[in-house]
Amino acid sequence: MPRILVALLLMVATLPSLASHAVNKESTGNKTPILHGVSDEGHYYPAFDHAYYFVDGTGQANPQLEQNVDELIQGFGFKPLKGVSENFGYEHRVHWILIPLHSYDLQESDKYLEFDYPLLDFIDLYVLQAGQPWKLTYQTGDMRPYDSRPIDHRVFFFPIPEKTDYLLLRLQTEGSLVMPIAIVNGAHVYTHQNNTTLGYGLFFGALMIMCVYNLFVYFFTREQGYFFYVSTLFFILLYQLAMSGYGYEWIWRENGQWVNEHIQPITVGLTLASVCLFTREVLQLKHYFPLFDTAFLIASRLSLATAFMGFFTPLSLLIHFISILPMVIISMVLVAGAYAYRSNVSGSGLFLLAWSAGLLGAFLFALHQLGILPSSPIYVHSLKVGVLLNTVLLSFTLVSHINFLKAEKQRAEQVAHDNYRLALIDSLTGIPNRRAFDHQFRLEYRRSQREGSPLSVLMIDVDYFKAYNDTYGHRKGDEVLAKVAKTLSGDLARPGDSLFRYGGEEFVVLLPDTDIKGAVYLADRLVKGISEDRIPHNASPLEHLTISIGVGTETRFEADSLAIIEEADAALYDAKSNGRNQYQMGKSSKNIHVLRGSQSS
Ligand code: GH3
Ligand code: MG
Ligand code: MG
Repeated sequence: MPRILVALLLMVATLPSLASHAVNKESTGNKTPILHGVSDEGHYYPAFDHAYYFVDGTGQANPQLEQNVDELIQGFGFKPLKGVSENFGYEHRVHWILIPLHSYDLQESDKYLEFDYPLLDFIDLYVLQAGQPWKLTYQTGDMRPYDSRPIDHRVFFFPIPEKTDYLLLRLQTEGSLVMPIAIVNGAHVYTHQNNTTLGYGLFFGALMIMCVYNLFVYFFTREQGYFFYVSTLFFILLYQLAMSGYGYEWIWRENGQWVNEHIQPITVGLTLASVCLFTREVLQLKHYFPLFDTAFLIASRLSLATAFMGFFTPLSLLIHFISILPMVIISMVLVAGAYAYRSNVSGSGLFLLAWSAGLLGAFLFALHQLGILPSSPIYVHSLKVGVLLNTVLLSFTLVSHINFLKAEKQRAEQVAHDNYRLALIDSLTGIPNRRAFDHQFRLEYRRSQREGSPLSVLMIDVDYFKAYNDTYGHRKGDEVLAKVAKTLSGDLARPGDSLFRYGGEEFVVLLPDTDIKGAVYLADRLVKGISEDRIPHNASPLEHLTISIGVGTETRFEADSLAIIEEADAALYDAKSNGRNQYQMGKSSKNIHVLRGSQSS
C-alpha cells in the first residue's frame, strides 16, 4: 500500500507540471506578440483589440457590398471587439468581424489571419484592397470539405494577399462561437503546429496507451470494470480528437462534415454511459446502495439514448443538453463516491480524488465553453489535464477494486475449504469421519476393481468401552478415544493407508493395494500397539485398554462393494467372542489363507 501511495503522489505531482509545460509552450506561441527581431516562435499580433463585430440576426445581411468602410461600420452598427470576450458561448447567429490591418504595426510581407479554433462550422473571409470591391477569398469551416482550407492545419490559417487593407469575416456555427483571431507570420504558423502537436501528442499518447493496456488486462481478467474503463477512455479520446480538430485532420478528413456535426453528442453520450456503468461496478452500488444503482442505470440509459439521438439530430438541438448532462452525471458520481467513502467501500477514496481532479478540469472547461470564462490556455486545456489526472487515478481505483474482489474470492474459498474440512473431519479425534470413509471407500473400491489389486479393510472396536465410561466418566472416555486414534494412525506405515472414525468407539482402516497377508500383519501390530500402551482400564479383565479387529479383504470384486465391510464386521464379532484383544480374518480370507497354506505345504 505505501508503494502505491508514493506512486500516486508522484503521478499527481508530475502530471500537472508536464501538462502545464505543454500548455505554456502552446501559449507562448500564441499570445506573446514578438514584433521585432528573429524568433523561433514567429510573429503574432492579437487581432481582437482593433477589430469590430456585428451580429446579423437574420443571416441575410450583406456588409460585403459596402465598399466604404466608415459607412459600413455606421450602417450596420459594427461595434469594437475590444473588451468583449472572444468566447460568445452557444451562439448560432451569423457574426461579422471587420479587421482593419493598418491598425497593426505589421513588419512582414507574409501575413496570415489565424483562427485558432477548429470547430467553427462556416467561415467566409472577404478581402478589401484599395479601389476594389470586397472579394470573397476563402470559404471554409469544419462543415465544409477539409480541402477548402488554404493551409493544411487542424485550425484555420488564411494567407493575406499583398496590399490588403481590411479583412471581413462571416462566421456561423451551431456549437460554441469562439474567435481567437490574430495576425501572424509564416514562422508562427509553423511553430504553432509544432507546439500544439507536442501537447496533444502527449495527451493522446497517454490515453491510447492506457486504453490498449487496459483492454488487454480486460481480455485476461474478464473483469467488467476494465471494460467500462476502456470504453470511457476510448470515447474521451474520440471526443478530444474531435474537439481539437485533429480528428478531422488525421482521421475523418474525407467526408468529415457528417462526423463533425454528430460526433459531439455521440461521444459525450457514450462516455457518460461508460462512466455510469464503471461507477456502478467499482463502487459496488448494486450491493451497497441499490437506490444509487438504479439512478446510475437510468443515467446510463439516458446517455445511451443521447448518443443514439446524436446520429440523427442536428447538433444545435442537443448542444445544451450535452453540456448539462455531464454536470448532472458527474454530480451523481461525486455523491455516490462520497457515500461509498463514508461506508468504507474499498477504493472509494481514490475514486473521489480522481473525480474531484477531473471535475475541476471539466467544470472550468464547461464555463469556458459557455463563454463565462475567457479563452486563456489554463481553461482551454483544463479538461485535458483533468481527464489525464482522472483516468490515471481511476485506474488505481480499479486495481484497488480488483484486489478487493480477489480478497473476497479468497475469503469465500477459505470458508468453503473450512466447511469442507468441518464436514469430513471428526472433531473429537481429529481424524476423517464416517462420511469421509464412505467417499474414500467408494473411490478405492473402484480403483482396486479397475486395476485388479486387492483391497483390505480393518474394522476396529474398543473393548469394554461402555464399562470404561462407567468407571472413569464420559470425559475421560473421550480423551482415551482421541489417544487411541492417535496411536492407531501412528502405526499406519504406508501413505495410502488411512484411518477413519467409523462411529462411537469404532474405527476403520482402509488399505488399498493390500492383500490379506499385509492386512493381518497391520491388524496384529495395531492390536499389540494399543495393548502395549497399557492404558489403565480396571473394569476390563486385562486391566488395560485393548481393541479387537475384524479383517476383510476383497480380491475378486464380484459381489457388491459392501460385502467386504460385512465380512470385516463378522470377523470383528468373531474376535469379540473369541476373547477380545485380537484380530480375526473374514471367512473368504480364511479360505484363501487355508488354500494357500495347503498349497505351500
Ligand atoms: P465390547 O467390548 O463388546 O465392544 O463392549 P463395549 O462396551 O465397548 O461396547 P458397546 O457397544 O456396548 O458400548 C460402546 C460404548 O462406547 C457405549 C458408548 O457410551 C461409548 N461411546 C461411544 N461413542 C463415545 C464417545 O464419543 N465418547 C465416549 N466417551 N464414549 C463413547
Ligand atoms: Mg461398539
Ligand atoms: Mg466396544
